[in-house]
Amino acid sequence: MTTRTPLMVGNWKMNLDWTQAQALVEELGDLLKGHDSSSVEVAVLPPFVDLRTVQVVVDAGKLPIAYGAQDISQHESGAYTGEISGAMLTALGCTFVAVGHSERRQYHGEDETITNAKVKAALAAGLTPILCVGEPLEERKAGNQVEYTLAQLKGGLQGLSPEEAAKVVVAYEPVWAIGTGEVATPEDAQEVCGAIRETLGSEFSAEVADSVRVLYGGSVKSSNVAEIMAKPDVDGALVGGASLKADEFAKIVEGAR
Ligand code: PEP
Repeated sequence: MTTRTPLMVGNWKMNLDWTQAQALVEELGDLLKGHDSSSVEVAVLPPFVDLRTVQVVVDAGKLPIAYGAQDISQHESGAYTGEISGAMLTALGCTFVAVGHSERRQYHGEDETITNAKVKAALAAGLTPILCVGEPLEERKAGNQVEYTLAQLKGGLQGLSPEEAAKVVVAYEPVWAIGTGEVATPEDAQEVCGAIRETLGSEFSAEVADSVRVLYGGSVKSSNVAEIMAKPDVDGALVGGASLKADEFAKIVEGAR
């Protein structure tokens, strides 16, 4: 019997300035009043410049909302103009950080080496990396979705000890389903999430496979979340567009139970 707590994460991407972030997290906090984080964990990933605002609102209201960043520098500190370190995120009370989101891979040239370094930087700072993996449309059409995604998974987790791997969250996000409205079927999600868990078992240990939360991401909405969450190897969702509306995201959280 697994003890994995479902995790629902909102990735705000490059949306909302700090005043809008404040309004959204306050509204979400109201909607989640009394929410029990031990039954379903809720987190948001605002832009860097909104993190301090989110921290203040969450702390003041003791809201059941964790938060984190959408990216992290692979470096610890120093002359890396424009970069944000893991220690800076930890100092802001962040719990999570997305690593290797397909938009970072596609628009910022982040390959397996960089993604792996960022996973390690996150762990070194005491953050939980959410390692994003998933195939583009042409790989899906060729039937290579499992092979392609597992190669990204192994690359991202290269060199980790089982203890470190156990701390990672993996998000399976087929690129063709991100922001397109085209959600994977529950069976599609289960096929790859199940293969991810099996690989965690063979690369690390049965304990790691059993403890790591594997999320699905790609056009998740309140109307489709329950059927995806019903699959045995799906432990939560990484939600983009639909996390920008408090009432819709709260309904998605509700659908995770
Ligand atoms: C994402 O950005 O990780 C994502 C899944 O986006 P959307 O829910 O909008 O498809």
